[in-house]
Amino acid sequence: MAGLCEGGNDPPARPKKFSLIFSSAHLWSNGQRVWPRNQVGRVRIQVWASYLVEFFPGFSLSPIRVNAGTFSTTRCRHPGCSETETLGHVLGFCKKGELLRNNRHHRARTAIANLLRNRGWEVHEEIHCVSEDDSHRRVDIIAINRRTQKAMVLDPTICFERDTNQALQINDDKRAKYVPCLPYLSEKYGTSLYNWDVTGLLFGARGCLPKFTCDILKSFQIPFYEVQKIVMEILEASLQILHYHLYVNT
Ligand SMILES: [Zn+2]
Repeated sequence: MAGLCEGGNDPPARPKKFSLIFSSAHLWSNGQRVWPRNQVGRVRIQVWASYLVEFFPGFSLSPIRVNAGTFSTTRCRHPGCSETETLGHVLGFCKKGELLRNNRHHRARTAIANLLRNRGWEVHEEIHCVSEDDSHRRVDIIAINRRTQKAMVLDPTICFERDTNQALQINDDKRAKYVPCLPYLSEKYGTSLYNWDVTGLLFGARGCLPKFTCDILKSFQIPFYEVQKIVMEILEASLQILHYHLYVNT
């Protein structure tokens, strides 16, 4: 995977000045998009996949069915879907890949949860909770360290990479969603409300790891190579979603 993982040494290299320190497939350069602006849909998909498949020996991704040069339609090929078939749509929104997307998320969530368990945290996954306005929500991970009296709600999210502020925006969104649940969780787990905090963890669907996410996981003493493993699993899962979208008729 040489060349794929910037800062991929162990111990981790110092984060770059821009926030996406783990930028695969040259999706980003100094925080800027590098995709040709005048090309859409399937061409983007082809470029991304043909580049990445080099890094997954044995992963079967036959040549992509691309209507190169014709562009008679950019509409999603999934029957009943009227969206434009961009890579962002395929990896993040199309109904066709919904189950695989859920699976991608659950695998990342459990991987993080297990890393925390291995470090002595009391960890709970997929926990129902009630907000102050009585709405019902479900948090991905609760991690409690009773010795240090610290309790965290961690909510990993996998999104198509957009810009370098995205991780902070996701974190803000998650805080807005789950901070109102902390009184409920504090009571449920018998820990003071003042011990609790909420963090949203963004992972890129194409394998980018924001510095914000990296720093949070580092604060749990999770080594960078373990984080890399999660990122690569996400990347593989995204390729599977793409492959399923392109080649499995439903
Ligand atoms: Zn679609």
